[in-house]
Amino acid sequence: MKKIKALPENKFIRLHFLLAIFVSSFLLITTGCKNVKKGNKKEQKTIVKSDTLTQVKQNDSSINIYLTFDDGPYYSTLGLTNTLIKENVKSSFFVIGSQITASKYYDSVFNTVKQNTLFKTYNHTFSHAVTHGRIKKYYQYPFNVWNDIQKNKQYLDPDCNITRLPGTNAWRFQDSNKCFSNSSTRLLFNYLDSIKSKEMMFGWDFEWSGKESKNITKVDLLFEKISDRIKKNKTKNKNYVILLHDYLFKDEIALNNLSYFISLLKKNGTTEFKWASEYPGIQ
Ligand SMILES: [Zn+2]
Repeated sequence: MKKIKALPENKFIRLHFLLAIFVSSFLLITTGCKNVKKGNKKEQKTIVKSDTLTQVKQNDSSINIYLTFDDGPYYSTLGLTNTLIKENVKSSFFVIGSQITASKYYDSVFNTVKQNTLFKTYNHTFSHAVTHGRIKKYYQYPFNVWNDIQKNKQYLDPDCNITRLPGTNAWRFQDSNKCFSNSSTRLLFNYLDSIKSKEMMFGWDFEWSGKESKNITKVDLLFEKISDRIKKNKTKNKNYVILLHDYLFKDEIALNNLSYFISLLKKNGTTEFKWASEYPGIQ
């Protein structure tokens, strides 16, 4: 009997105890949830806000700059690469095979550039149209141009299929939106299409003509031109290819002007320097 009486008492106590635990846990969970919810809401708000800001910021000002140097190797190339290393900017070198083989020194300059992980080397043909006479005549023989491109591949990575054509600004990507031929290259592009060549032709948007190497105010003007284009192209193309030449950086003034130009490009804080092979649509 005692046992029977004791059981409900124990049950009653146990029930109360369990109820107390349940109520306090419920209160704790509820309050905790509220806090978490509040915290999440606050957090979500902040994340959305900062995401939007980042997006707006990116839409407004984020750009990709491709510094591309043609016609090397040259005796000024290593001074140039030292400046680029100091500035820590990825750069693309479109090299000429006949220049690489011109001397042991040029060959070693080329290898120094090729071995540096900040740089990538691409095709600028073996002859640079020199052995075939003037540029216009060169493009009249597309088969020869294609051979000239292929001959230069021995100095480049086996999978490199990016060429800058000598003396002419033309683009040829697999993506038809980025295919701009001109009167010089039409025959060549038709020929490349006929052989189903996957070679990409890499043009440019702005050129460091050489005046900029001598006169810092010309650097400001070039930068202004680029900035104007960026303002107009806010939501469109964010990729800007600058053509420069190794031989335009022979002295301290030219190299300082280049550093100044890079500092202007870096100024907005969202500029990325990229290699030609990172250009959208390049495969
Ligand atoms: Zn060239």
